[in-house]
Amino acid sequence: MEIKPGKVYLVGAGPGDVELLTLKAVRALRESDVALIDDLVNREVLQFLRPGARVIEVGKRGGCKSTPQAFIERQMVKLAQEGHIVSRIKGGDPFVFGRGGEEVETLLAAGIAVEVVSGITAGIGAPAAMGIPVTHRDCSRGVTLVTGHARTGAGDGDGPNWEALAQSGTTLVIYMGMKNLPDIATRLVAGGLASTTPVAVIQNGTLANEQRLVSTLATAARDAVASGIGSPAIVVVGDVVRYGRSSMITMPLLKSA
Ligand code: SAH
Repeated sequence: MEIKPGKVYLVGAGPGDVELLTLKAVRALRESDVALIDDLVNREVLQFLRPGARVIEVGKRGGCKSTPQAFIERQMVKLAQEGHIVSRIKGGDPFVFGRGGEEVETLLAAGIAVEVVSGITAGIGAPAAMGIPVTHRDCSRGVTLVTGHARTGAGDGDGPNWEALAQSGTTLVIYMGMKNLPDIATRLVAGGLASTTPVAVIQNGTLANEQRLVSTLATAARDAVASGIGSPAIVVVGDVVRYGRSSMITMPLLKSA
């Protein structure tokens, strides 16, 4: 008997709050036989799977240090070839620092149907939840989503050109930036941003354990250590941060202040 071909949904689960899932994500989860779920995803999304659907943890919580990407991709291909409908659930948006692009390529090369379900990326959703409009037109020409984590061996040398980004006139939304925050802040100031430029750090944005810190380029790295705020976090650099409301304010930055 010929097996009816399966399919893979690359599902963006949004930044954390389960209500930020899209209707399309909920439909994909309902249709799925198997879900492969990443570490950073709120487990509450699993309530939308049908009873009996299989859940495979593919992050550090799954037991392995972090399931290697190639293994995850092989697993998706195999499950779909067996005729399963698979949801690969990722935090935020699958195409924003989510390796979604690589996975689509692999799946298409294996002849597997794939549908991408956009999600709200943490870099926009987490600031929004604290009232930061990342492109407020009074003080920002745009927004740059950038990684603070230089990938070794990717041919990108020392990672982003922070001095150049300092000149961009855009809000900088930095993913995976906590480890390198001292260096990033120093380089942005060296590149010409004022050391008083507001910075927001949002850890576990939109989740119950969310932590927020508002500081400046001069003090953010120190304040982060002092307050204990850490990964996973989004760092927002720019005047738009003044529109935010924070529970952990270290500087009188708020607009009304
Ligand atoms: N695809 C995801 C990003 C994956 S990279 C998206 O679109 O949001 C992982 C990084 O995303 C983390 O290191 C952190 O910088 C950020 N991140 C993801 N979820 C977050 C959250 N709820 N709060 C703050 N940062 C988050």
